[in-house]
Amino acid sequence: MSSSHAQSEEVFALVDCNSFYVSCERAFTPKFRGKPVVVLSNNDGCVVSRSNEAKALGIKMGVPLHHIKDLVKEHNVYVYSSNYTLYGDMSARIMRILSEFTPELEIYSIDEAFLDLKGFDHNALIAYAENIKETIYKYTSIPVSLGIGPTKVLAKLSNKVAKKTPTGVYSILHESDPVKTLKEFSVEDIWGVGRKSAEKLKAKGILSAFDMINATPSLVREMLTVVGARIQDELKGKSCISLEEAPKKKKQIVSSRSFGDLLTDIEPIKEAVANHATRLSEKLRQEGSVCNSFQVFLHTNAFRNQDVQYHGVATVNLPFGTNETNLLIGYALTAVESIYREKLNFKKCGIIGMEICPHDEAQLNLFADNKAELFRPMIKVMDEINSRFGTQTLKFGSCGVRKHWEMRADHKSKCYTTRFQDLVVVN
Ligand SMILES: [Mg+2]
Repeated sequence: MSSSHAQSEEVFALVDCNSFYVSCERAFTPKFRGKPVVVLSNNDGCVVSRSNEAKALGIKMGVPLHHIKDLVKEHNVYVYSSNYTLYGDMSARIMRILSEFTPELEIYSIDEAFLDLKGFDHNALIAYAENIKETIYKYTSIPVSLGIGPTKVLAKLSNKVAKKTPTGVYSILHESDPVKTLKEFSVEDIWGVGRKSAEKLKAKGILSAFDMINATPSLVREMLTVVGARIQDELKGKSCISLEEAPKKKKQIVSSRSFGDLLTDIEPIKEAVANHATRLSEKLRQEGSVCNSFQVFLHTNAFRNQDVQYHGVATVNLPFGTNETNLLIGYALTAVESIYREKLNFKKCGIIGMEICPHDEAQLNLFADNKAELFRPMIKVMDEINSRFGTQTLKFGSCGVRKHWEMRADHKSKCYTTRFQDLVVVN
């Protein structure tokens, strides 16, 4: 392996911010550095970012705040609500710094970027990576980890090792014993290998990245299609996934709105949720993304003291990444049924799409049992009709017709610039 690496022309680095949301908060409150800190999802539902100290306390990703109440109190865990404006701005600063180190940059998510370092002197790469890391820290106070490899899959793998190295930099290209690293790396931790594929591989005794490199290529292709074959090649050091100048993808998409009047019955609430699911799926399709999970929330009006207060949140982990309206509506309706409570006055509901990734990357995880593919042609026709004749020309029945839940907008001005029938008429 090391011989092929020595000749390899491609060099990729994956820069990943450590505990990004927590680090953003800590950048402005240094007194919390070295302390357990967590950041919560919208509406203070679940933990979405943890400092190492919080991880050490056993706080798991995605756990609802109320499950860790005691732990938080006992260990003085500092809890932040999420501030996506801040995180987005910090992310933009970091990406700007990175772009000064290489013109070939792919922003992969809010806190991750691939750098193409082709042509750089291999002997100077580690020092260059350390310089990148120190520069980002100096200007933003955000700690990052850098993984270097001859392919994107190996750069991603290296980054996971880097996270556990004191310097925060690791290069499998410079590793004296890459076999040892690859043997320690489990197949489910390989970029692009989803849970189901990992199960298939393990059933055949392919447990580590090293096992996958040595597996019979035809067997890998048979089990994981051409996608698996590409991953296997990438693990061998043969680059086949190139750096794309991908546009920025949103890490989260939110669709939510207050109801016009307080709602108690579930039916109009379900209609509203179906509309939010539709909106989410449209936004995902517009940017060529899918989401792998989403959150549905439903709450009462905290400013009405006379009302019983309730915040319902349900997180749905999808079996595969999707942007299909009908699938998202189906899952969203089941979720809202699980959090709905009778006889309460509800004020607002919404959906937050999470784990968003580009559609083509999502396919890395997908196999024949992906239902989403079946609906794609139908959804495409709906999008075409709606873009030609106006949004909601065609929609799913669950979205409702009368819309009792809609926000009142009796005094709203017209959409002079965006809606044809609202154009100003000159007499
Ligand atoms: Mg990160």
